[in-house]
Amino acid sequence: MKFITIDKKDWARGIEKSRETYKLFGPVKDKSGFLIKSLENDTLPDMEYHDTIMSAKSVLFPQTEKILETTLDESKEDHHIMKRADTDYSPRAVVGIRPYDAKAIELVKLNFDTDDYRDPYFCDAYEATTFVGLAVNKPGPFDFSTSAGSGPFCEDGLDILLADLDDKFLAKVLTGKGDAYISACGFETSADEKESLALFDILKKEAQNNIVSHIDTDKLKEKTILELHEAPFWEDVAFSCINCGTCTYVCPTCWCFDIQDETKRKSSTRIRNWDTCMSPLFTRHATGHNPRAAKTQRVRQRFMHKLKYFYDKYDQGIMCVGCGRCVKNCPVNIDIREVCNILNSYEKQE
Ligand code: SF4
Ligand code: SF4
Repeated sequence: MKFITIDKKDWARGIEKSRETYKLFGPVKDKSGFLIKSLENDTLPDMEYHDTIMSAKSVLFPQTEKILETTLDESKEDHHIMKRADTDYSPRAVVGIRPYDAKAIELVKLNFDTDDYRDPYFCDAYEATTFVGLAVNKPGPFDFSTSAGSGPFCEDGLDILLADLDDKFLAKVLTGKGDAYISACGFETSADEKESLALFDILKKEAQNNIVSHIDTDKLKEKTILELHEAPFWEDVAFSCINCGTCTYVCPTCWCFDIQDETKRKSSTRIRNWDTCMSPLFTRHATGHNPRAAKTQRVRQRFMHKLKYFYDKYDQGIMCVGCGRCVKNCPVNIDIREVCNILNSYEKQE
């Protein structure tokens, strides 16, 4: 591990220099708020942002992604043979990702990179990506990351963690990938390790003390799936849900998708699109049968997956990093913090 001081006057020049090696992504303001986007031409990451509407998940798992393609032209020898689409996996860097979003990518990876199956699209993108985090000095009111396995200075999944010190950034270089990115930027002013560690520690404690929102997860493990599944509170939890799917699209840890084939003249492509477990169509079978036809079943599925099934399966905590996006954006104020506490404190009545 090493520390580098970056004077903000040198920031733009360094980021521009890194474009010689990396395709860049980062926070950009548009009319609806901040989004993580590809930084085209001379656009710089806007490091003054507080939070982004959508997470950086789409850099590795795009909302719409062409995965396979073929030709229907029978004069071609390889007609009707699906082949992997030609996707660019050259080095890329996400500059300014929040620590909870980097942690979320590690949780998604647990599902996409397993002993049984390696999702090549997600994993190849992951391997090509360097994550340059921006610590959260002043967490917002919806942030409950410290009680959800992450935090404003969490380093999980990051290659570099930047602390904003007003006129400069202090970079904690965490991995070889991070070291390569710092070199590509030409940032080379070393900072004293002992002093830097102490400073990070102070900033981290200050930020953590500003988090006012918490969840309890300590008893989730000891409950059985069946007792939570059959608990009487699900109707109440789901009552006001309008199945808009917003909570799943803004969530950095949701990974549901749908596959579609599209044919245009002699060319055919297979496309993967984000989907949502909150939609009745998501689980409707070709026969017309739907195992989660009722809203209550779908809401239960979303929360049970995040707070129980994932926890039991991977033993890596809950499938939520406490970013607060679903709480902030749900139009009917369904709040995962309340649901988590209901599950955690539930005692079955005999
Ligand atoms: S954002 Fe709220 S209303 Fe929309 S699907 Fe999620 S829980 Fe339901
Ligand atoms: S469930 Fe909500 S708070 Fe948790 S990671 Fe997803 S959007 Fe963020």
